Amino acid sequence: MHFDSFTVKESPDNRTTRPHILPIYATSSFAFESIDQGIGIFQNIESGHVYSRYANPTVDTVAQKIADLETHGLDMTAHAVMTSSGMSAISTLLMGVLKTGDKVLSQANLYGGTTDLLKNIFGQFGVETVFVNLRNLEDVDSAFRNDPSIKMLYCETPANPTLACVDIQALSDVAHKYGAWCAIDNTFPTPYLQQPFAFGVDFIIHSTTKFLNGHGNSTAGVVIGKDKEVMRKKVWNAMKLVGTNCSPFEAWLTYNGLKTLTLRMDRHCANALALAHFLENHPAVERVNYPGLTSHPDHVLARRQMRGFGGMLSFELKGGLEAGISCMNRIRFCTLAPTLGDTDTLILHPASMSHLSIPKEVRLANGITDGLVRVSVGIENVEDIVEDLEQAFG
Ligand SMILES: *Cc1c(COP(=O)(O)O)cnc(C)c1O
Repeated sequence: MHFDSFTVKESPDNRTTRPHILPIYATSSFAFESIDQGIGIFQNIESGHVYSRYANPTVDTVAQKIADLETHGLDMTAHAVMTSSGMSAISTLLMGVLKTGDKVLSQANLYGGTTDLLKNIFGQFGVETVFVNLRNLEDVDSAFRNDPSIKMLYCETPANPTLACVDIQALSDVAHKYGAWCAIDNTFPTPYLQQPFAFGVDFIIHSTTKFLNGHGNSTAGVVIGKDKEVMRKKVWNAMKLVGTNCSPFEAWLTYNGLKTLTLRMDRHCANALALAHFLENHPAVERVNYPGLTSHPDHVLARRQMRGFGGMLSFELKGGLEAGISCMNRIRFCTLAPTLGDTDTLILHPASMSHLSIPKEVRLANGITDGLVRVSVGIENVEDIVEDLEQAFG
């Protein structure tokens, strides 16, 4: 072989190469041992990797780990496909299982990006979304009864900005009564705090960018489904052909984050509850939205379907817009950032930040009031978080 030929045909030495930690398979394709093996793999007779857009060993390992977490302790198995982001997980699922003329039934208080995606992208391709209050089961039933083209119920619980919850079991029962799929975005609680497969849903999606990774250093998503054939023929096929595949490096970062999921979530929950109690008793605060508080309208429902109440909360400042802006300007320890689910406490004042360009009526209709502050409570010492907010209220 010549000096300038770098192709490595064999492992550099024959000592053990079994890694303790999942390796990053940074390779676009996989070599075949022989033409027969290549033919076998292409014809799906033999298992093996072909091309990283189809499947990659690092990505597949992490996907299966998340599927196992979602089915932990339940008498079932699930199949997962990792994608490049939470948004692409939602898109891949919808592109895989729906077609033009089908409709989605959902709630107004979805993650903002999801609402835009459903209205502006899927709407363009003739997959429309009907928005109803999913807490009103009578409305849900009549929406299905009056429109047989509704093929999927898509929900999120607890949801932004007030951490309102919906009844997963009741919703999947209604969807199934009308022969539709039930899909849920389980990003906020993670499988450690809420396992929607126990309540009958067909598909779970996550933005792993948030709590599953937990360190704010990767963007990825996942679709998990119970039916192996549907996952392979529809969801995996859509991922492969649209090219919404997850990068092995992003999957690997997620894998590292997953190792501390339970430790982090326990601390997120404990800190959020302590902060909620502090805020509830503070004179500058009008109302606190945290499903772990007995004052939250969905506390009983949350107790029934969640193992803990999570790290997300929001509260309403009595002083409105001015109080919100002044509080943001005084924050020192927490970080002003428009993401969530990190080890650090992240604060957002939607009226002056993420929702500044949205007309006030639209903002208010979605529950984003002038004094609303959203907190993704981190895993720091909670006294530092409380002290920061106390001084920020002035
Ligand atoms: C962030 C988020 C998404 C979108 O995920 P990306 O990884 O940013 O694409 C979807 N749903 C919820 C609840 C989210 O918080």
